[in-house]
Amino acid sequence: MNSSIKKIVYEGKAKILYCSSDPKILIQHFKDDATANNAEKHAIIKSKGILNNFISEYLMSKIEDNGIETHFIKRINQREQLIKKVEIIPIELVVRNKASGSIVKRYNLKESLEFTDPLIEFFLKDDNLGDPLLNETHIIEFKLANYEEIKLMKSLALKINNILQNIFRNIGIELIDFKLEFGRVGDDKNKDKIILADEISPDNCRLWDKKTRKKLDKDIFRKNLGNLIDGYQEVLTRLGLKLI
Ligand code: UDP
Repeated sequence: MNSSIKKIVYEGKAKILYCSSDPKILIQHFKDDATANNAEKHAIIKSKGILNNFISEYLMSKIEDNGIETHFIKRINQREQLIKKVEIIPIELVVRNKASGSIVKRYNLKESLEFTDPLIEFFLKDDNLGDPLLNETHIIEFKLANYEEIKLMKSLALKINNILQNIFRNIGIELIDFKLEFGRVGDDKNKDKIILADEISPDNCRLWDKKTRKKLDKDIFRKNLGNLIDGYQEVLTRLGLKLI
């Protein structure tokens, strides 16, 4: 089906979700748009979407292999994958192994300070408000998720952190931090099952080369450090993937 005639369900900064012929399944299309500082900075970076589609396919599949359900079904072409339709919980859950980015500024920390245990932070997914930090009582009071759901998302996030840290450690890359989004999906047993959604790619992880400390993620764009595609391609190649 030609993208231009598919019905758009949602368009975000880096992805478009289209309807498929099955109401329970959507098509997730990866765009080449790169944004930073709440979309103040924007550029089209040719083939970024393709790299993210392949990298996210690989990482989501590894997470599934480890027994954590995700929305990912299968990649269908260079830019698109089939995903289960979920109701996104409007929380961005960030896991941090070392300090970088917003947390460094917020608490005046030393860049790359190692946390004793991985830190988990929640942010409200609302660009108009600049994605403000949330604590657990905000989440419950605003009815974004209940106590049990928060507990589940935290425990899934820590398991995902272990899985991703192992994958990247094996290819000489350090996972500094990353962002997750979860969604609710109904099945026969559980009307509001929580599964991992969105994408996992260098757009939403900080990935540093272990030896050189070179950044291989979206900070290349945020901080004008060079060619973003070179970094993403390096991640793809080290993961043993090829664009087909
Ligand atoms: N992140 C993201 N989307 C956002 C905000 C952050 O994917 O809207 C990711 C980001 O790439 C990094 C981690 O979450 O890997 C922590 O980001 P941080 O809070 O430091 O914000 P930043 O300074 O990157 O905007």
